[in-house]
Amino acid sequence: MLDSQFDIAIVGAGMAGLSCAQSLHQAGYKVVVIDKSRGLGGRMATRRLHGTHADHGVCYLKPKSAQFQALLNWLVDRKVIRVWTDTIHELNSHGQIQPSERQAPCYAAANGITAIAKFLSLGLTLRLNHRVERIEARDGWRLHCESGEMVSASAIVIAIPAPQAAMICESVDQAFVEQLKAVEYSPCISTIAVYPSERQAEVEQLGYKAIVCPSDPDLGWIGIDSTKQLNPVQPAIVVQSNARFAVQHLEDSDLEQVGKRLLNRAAEVTEQWLTHPEVAQVHRWRYAFPAEPVTNKYLAANISYPLVCTGDWCGGNRVENAFEAGLATANYVNQQLSDRGLPERFWLQL
Ligand SMILES: Cc1cc2nc3c(=O)[nH]c(=O)nc-3n(C[C@H](O)[C@H](O)[C@H](O)COP(=O)(O)OP(=O)(O)OC[C@H]3O[C@@H](n4cnc5c(N)ncnc54)[C@H](O)[C@@H]3O)c2cc1C
Repeated sequence: MLDSQFDIAIVGAGMAGLSCAQSLHQAGYKVVVIDKSRGLGGRMATRRLHGTHADHGVCYLKPKSAQFQALLNWLVDRKVIRVWTDTIHELNSHGQIQPSERQAPCYAAANGITAIAKFLSLGLTLRLNHRVERIEARDGWRLHCESGEMVSASAIVIAIPAPQAAMICESVDQAFVEQLKAVEYSPCISTIAVYPSERQAEVEQLGYKAIVCPSDPDLGWIGIDSTKQLNPVQPAIVVQSNARFAVQHLEDSDLEQVGKRLLNRAAEVTEQWLTHPEVAQVHRWRYAFPAEPVTNKYLAANISYPLVCTGDWCGGNRVENAFEAGLATANYVNQQLSDRGLPERFWLQL
């Protein structure tokens, strides 16, 4: 029989949820992390296909704060991530591919970016494949999952995109729900394409690993994702749309066709052979990037039992923001419960 009574239930196993969960777990709270997906990481997502893999969400990590840099250094020491490149190229408005002027270490994981989430989940109690549908305040909190399962907790952290959090909180507090609904997101469409191993030698001659496309009508990013791997045997490419293209095609019924369009456009600006993958898949990110993040690191509801919503949308639109939001939320929840003192750098305890 699975345990169903916890101090804190955290909805969402992305960077925000996991960093919050580890802090609280290490402070001695009984924590459960619930996620609707089969895997960990949320938008830190890796697709396995055709004997290889590619990151179709987060492309790389570029730290700004000393704290995030410290986490990345620690993950480097444990061989979870490494510096992938110092140079992201840029497709300019004349169709030329040039190294971007701003050079800085960009970190990625050779085995896929979800490796970070797997590491940060060590020791945590997880309920994957569980979509939380609604919450109810009754002698603490009750979280009702789509599966019919129920989890009880003294406090809830909802670490998912704000519009999705609004759906879960619908019955709790209307003013709070309105704040969540006001956070808007830009969508993104990603195509993951794998090519025959005969193309590997050509990829090594390309002279770039990734291209941002700020002025292209359709494209946002072209990543030669297999260059993140230690010994790649076949090229894996990820092409991401810009927000405008994604808004236009988000509801298209023929997603494969949408993916082909992105790939063809990427081929036009790079290599023609990109139009002929061995296998390709398309992913729709409805909530890719918060358009206008809120400035607070979390939103707390004014209810007798702690209910806090957080995520990258609290402070920015990057993994680093999700991480900082997760830590700040852990601090808040700890103060609301018993103020046990949180580890300053939870990852050192993993
Ligand atoms: C295509 C793309 C490219 C990106 N590239 C970069 C990049 O290069 N660098 C960078 O720093 N950032 C990048 N980002 C942004 C980055 O992904 C996010 O800022 C960060 O991962 C957000 O983390 P989070 O924990 O807030 O949310 P998420 O990662 O979205 O985690 C939320 C989790 O909640 C779960 N969930 C949602 N609803 C429910 C429910 N009802 N019940 C249970 N579980 C639920 C989801 O399954 C998910 O696992 C990119 C995003 C996208 C989409």
